Amino acid sequence: MAEKVIGIDLGTTNTCVALVEENNPLVIANKGSYDTTPSMVALAETGRRLVGFMAKRQAITNSSNTAFAFKRLIGRKFNSPEVENLRSNLPYNLVSGKNGDVRIVLRDQKYSIAELSSFILSEMKSVAEEYLGSKVTKAVVTVPAYFTDSQRQATKDSGKIAELDIIRIINEPTAAALAYGFGKDIEKRIAIYDLGGGTFDISVLDIGNGVFEVISTAGDSLLGGEDFDRRIMDWIVFNFAKENHIDLRKDKMALQRLKDISEKTKCELSTLQESEINLPFIISTGKSDPYHLKTRLTRDKLEQLTSDLVERTIRICKSSLEKSSIALSSIDTIILVGGMTRMPIVQDKVKEFFGKKPSKGVHPDEVVALGAAIQGNSLVNNDEKKEELLLLDVTSHSIGIKTSGGAFYKIIEANTTIPTSEKQIFTNVLKNQQAVKIIVFQGENSIADKNELLGEFTLTGLRPAEKGDLDIEVSFEINANGIVTVQAKDLATGKMQEITITAKSNLSDQEIKDIIQKNKDNKKITDGKSSKKETTPKT
Ligand code: AMP
Repeated sequence: MAEKVIGIDLGTTNTCVALVEENNPLVIANKGSYDTTPSMVALAETGRRLVGFMAKRQAITNSSNTAFAFKRLIGRKFNSPEVENLRSNLPYNLVSGKNGDVRIVLRDQKYSIAELSSFILSEMKSVAEEYLGSKVTKAVVTVPAYFTDSQRQATKDSGKIAELDIIRIINEPTAAALAYGFGKDIEKRIAIYDLGGGTFDISVLDIGNGVFEVISTAGDSLLGGEDFDRRIMDWIVFNFAKENHIDLRKDKMALQRLKDISEKTKCELSTLQESEINLPFIISTGKSDPYHLKTRLTRDKLEQLTSDLVERTIRICKSSLEKSSIALSSIDTIILVGGMTRMPIVQDKVKEFFGKKPSKGVHPDEVVALGAAIQGNSLVNNDEKKEELLLLDVTSHSIGIKTSGGAFYKIIEANTTIPTSEKQIFTNVLKNQQAVKIIVFQGENSIADKNELLGEFTLTGLRPAEKGDLDIEVSFEINANGIVTVQAKDLATGKMQEITITAKSNLSDQEIKDIIQKNKDNKKITDGKSSKKETTPKT
């Protein structure tokens, strides 16, 4: 019997693990019987590492050593404007890694985001192993469709650190579609509107005869529930400052409590019209009695505070469909994925835009992990041909190179079916030019530097030639994981250079090896003594 492959939805807020048993996809509950586990990691005062609900439970009293929502930082550069913006509201500290990547400091130890994610993957691996009673070594892991190459590579790295072979990375909305269509004899066009804790994706797929073909995909990897929570926090902080002339953000424990209550209030307002926010002893200045926070937020006010965020998702839907020339009327079913789609205004706006009521046929928190498990099962059980399944996904960003004038020359356009490869001939711009530098970008801007730099390499030892005489063939390949390889070849000599594009901000192979070794050395001290499992209440 082939080894079981688990499917993991590694979410910004929660993570879920699933597998397929006797052709039945199912979510594996953790020891506390909860289907999802918080994507949180903390370091206790004793030096013990806490993962999942154990980390969540102590976040308020240990806020500066509890990492949450770090998926928003994966594959990003420390000095990017996005990270700069996120930093201001985090109770934990960020520093720059050697490669310019983001590191989170927990009790003076610096962790790469891939490493923190690996702790969550390890936890899910052990949940599955406990359920199966056997070792698990392989997984399909999902990522937001709009993740870049560098974010995908960092996710792969976290698998390596967790010693879990990620046999395929698939896009979250695509996984949701797989789970939706699995075992159904349907032929239809569906739209997956996926608004989670940190990211937004919209994908349109055609399903029929066991083939799942993505037609278009778009999104925003910094638009999700965290932004809604922050709007509530800002509102509370502003009102408190107006009344008491105190900035609550200066106190890390207060900040964590605010974050917590903001999320709870947001969730409550999906069913209630009004919610009370009550945080006694929120801050103490030492000069007077401690301050208490007591206020009320209505659903109307929440909708007002966040209306631009919801509108942004709709704008992305509109432009994505327009770019791919997909008529709204051609979409048969709209499926809502991600915890944020429980918000009534989100459902209303989706209905208004698509002109039909979204389907409630899937569980928004579990469907992605189920789809990952279905894909994992089909990858290892292909010879059984029980449930033959063909998944045709697309690349969400264009890939190209910087030309000598600084323009972005696209070689593979966004929304091209993957795996794919493309070739293009370039020439030397100088007489007797000895080397040519290939600088690879990902994005849609016509100016190369305004896109995301994926990496660069140099083809050296070019033969002497007049300007424009050399034929340099540059070929790009995007594999089924959405990861890019580039090759440059001098066609006359056959001289070639090939790289898997590794963004400078990602971990090197040596760093990954060092982290694995460090984890092995630390295992006994940090988590070797505990057999406790984490649980999380359902939202
Ligand atoms: P996911 O990434 O799919 O796990 O979604 C997590 C996000 O969904 C978080 O921001 C949660 O606060 C949010 N969420 C969960 N339940 C609800 C709810 N009932 N109403 C509004 N947002 C929710």
